[in-house]
Amino acid sequence: MHSAPIFSLIKIARAGSIVENLMSSFQGKAIGSIGAIVGVASVLSNFAMAQSQTPPIADNDSIYIDGKTFVVTPGRAKGDVSAQIRALGARELGSGAIIFRSGEKLYIVATSVLTPEIGQPNRVRIDYVVPKNPDFQELYGRIREYRALEEMQRILSPFRLPEELTIRTAECGVMNAWYSREESKPTVTMCYELLQHISQTLPNKTTPEGFTAKDAAVGQFFWLITHEVGHAMFDFFNVPLFGREEDAADNFAAYIMLQFGKEQARRLVAGGAWAWREYIADYRTNPVIQEQLAGFASNHGQPQERFYNLMCMAFGADPVTFANLTQDGYLPPNRSPTCKHEFYTLSYAFHHEISPHIDQQMARQVLNTNWFANFVPMKSTPPRPR
Ligand SMILES: [Zn+2]
Repeated sequence: MHSAPIFSLIKIARAGSIVENLMSSFQGKAIGSIGAIVGVASVLSNFAMAQSQTPPIADNDSIYIDGKTFVVTPGRAKGDVSAQIRALGARELGSGAIIFRSGEKLYIVATSVLTPEIGQPNRVRIDYVVPKNPDFQELYGRIREYRALEEMQRILSPFRLPEELTIRTAECGVMNAWYSREESKPTVTMCYELLQHISQTLPNKTTPEGFTAKDAAVGQFFWLITHEVGHAMFDFFNVPLFGREEDAADNFAAYIMLQFGKEQARRLVAGGAWAWREYIADYRTNPVIQEQLAGFASNHGQPQERFYNLMCMAFGADPVTFANLTQDGYLPPNRSPTCKHEFYTLSYAFHHEISPHIDQQMARQVLNTNWFANFVPMKSTPPRPR
């Protein structure tokens, strides 16, 4: 059999991205209209109709379609395919793809992009993994008692996901949170170590602005999970990113927080930024910091940058509700004038890439609900060294 070079697939992938853009703008208009969605589905079945006699493609096999001659050439990948997938930036097509010819051009459509009905709401499942370390037992009991993951599950229920997303709390051996595919299952992991650290660093009393220990606990929990969910959304919907994914995930979390009513958004933002606040002295009285140079090489922003970015998004979204940020010195005048534009850019990206995957009616209900209403934070003291 002729062996098509695997890099030939690049041509198909490039044509695909153009078609997907065309189709997604069409799809944006189709949202909310069942008739239009059914229409799209029937277009798909027209393309794919009556061709089911071809045998299924075998593992590591490929098909190359020449964009000029339209000759279809089967091939077989050599060597480590997973390395080639990474090197080529090859994208998984999920539920399938249609390649078609129109005139003298080839097109590819990922069916998951075309048919939003493949994505379903209520697709977040949760898991409180029992910790082995006795230091986490109390924390574990409390987050279960306050149904912290159930609240996040309901908040995230309007996202129409192509597959199930698991959000779990677990003992990790490190103080962290992350998104990954665990045995191919999309999973957000929130470590008890990190939750414990949050509960040990809550404010002792209400701040002069009126923010409480509850705001700091809820805001950080909410922010950390939505940041990781942002990574999951980029993965699910193949969201193109021009910049650090970590910044994009921060912005995703900020955008979600800012969709809630003014008072809830204000508390979520202030609470979410609580851990970074300790890095921020007033820029007018303490403008110089010392930083390890290697810190700037991180794929994450420095805590100070992440703090100012979140403040900037909040001020850009609503300069009236968040007027205190510039007045009280949380957002310097060398940044605040660009925030409206920065938020607009984020809002455009969200509407273009994420909104088509949200059940809007469910989202309105979520945004009108007061979350974590019964939550009572308890400031833990750090355990004595043993
Ligand atoms: Zn991240």
